[in-house]
Amino acid sequence: MAHYDPLVQVLRQEITAHGPVSVAQFMNLVLGHEDHGYYMRQDPFGQGGDFTTAPEISQIFGELVAGWLIDTWYKLGAPAKVVLLECGPGRGTLMVDILRVAQGVPDFIAAIQPTLLEISPTLKARQQQTLSPYTQYCAAPQWIGSIEELPSDMPLLVVANEFLDALPVHHIVKRGDELRERKIREDAERFVWEEGGCDVPVDQAALDSAKDGEVIEISPQRSAFINALASKMDGQSAALLIDYGYRDHAAGETLQALLRHKFCDVLDHIGEADLTAHVDFGAVMRAAQQAPDMHAYFETQGEFLNRLGGVHRAEMLVNAARTPQQKKDIITGYHRLTHDSQMGTLFKVCALVRGEVPLAGF
Ligand code: SAH
Repeated sequence: MAHYDPLVQVLRQEITAHGPVSVAQFMNLVLGHEDHGYYMRQDPFGQGGDFTTAPEISQIFGELVAGWLIDTWYKLGAPAKVVLLECGPGRGTLMVDILRVAQGVPDFIAAIQPTLLEISPTLKARQQQTLSPYTQYCAAPQWIGSIEELPSDMPLLVVANEFLDALPVHHIVKRGDELRERKIREDAERFVWEEGGCDVPVDQAALDSAKDGEVIEISPQRSAFINALASKMDGQSAALLIDYGYRDHAAGETLQALLRHKFCDVLDHIGEADLTAHVDFGAVMRAAQQAPDMHAYFETQGEFLNRLGGVHRAEMLVNAARTPQQKKDIITGYHRLTHDSQMGTLFKVCALVRGEVPLAGF
């Protein structure tokens, strides 16, 4: 066990002052504490980090997402000004791939206002550095800390890859007629689980899905985020949300900790390991559809990327590759993104748009 000590101090103080913390408070603190949070201190991506994401695996991912955004923009009437918002941009790799493709479509690149929603100053600095060679072709990128900072009079094109999984979840346990919430307390200098009172509202669908003693994982924070985003989306806006998750709520928890590409116990490497939970896309869609006429589309990542012509793009890159190793990397990368045994079915894609629009890939 190796915790990140300054964060453990903060957690200890919180528990001493206010009692055991919920899973959601724990995630908020461990990931987002302004000085010591996991995302605040480091760049967790890639081989030397804790996890790797689709844009880091293959450029094809960002290129296809770019194609989708441009196609959708045309289908929505090609508004002259549009906010291109990425939520949780990590190293900025996806945004760079999007801007690189967008350079080939002058009307689109002239219309977009690249905007990045990021809480981590470390990653923001990294994104600024990654984006700087590309920004001479479009409006200067802007960074925001919350959805509320978005202008309310411009259409939005939104993309979020592995962002929603970082938003906090609660673990509720059904005990007879009572609901209890799983919390974390300290016991002889070790952090342990307990069940305490529950004052988080749990919706009926989630309640019905659980048997006595089973954990129900819910994320009011995620729903609130989607709600806020959806209410900013006008008739010329669209969002593409990509993450691991499921559509039909099932009982059980999906909270996971990743350290150097390996799963570990959530309470074992506090502040050193990344924490995420699978996304309940059913709840995401319900939250979005509180906005009038909001339509939600849903597909697996593998099917979505293949339908957008991913295989064809991979072939083009293979033909242009200079070395056998490059060819192999292109094929392996695309396989990783799309194959059922890898990210192909575990990852899902959800698109949101007002009205019925024949969106590519669904
Ligand atoms: N989309 C990137 C990175 C995913 S990791 C990729 O695919 O590689 C999650 C990202 O979301 C990080 O950039 C992290 O700092 C950011 N993040 C996490 N919680 C956030 C929050 N509440 N608000 C804004 N950004 C957040």
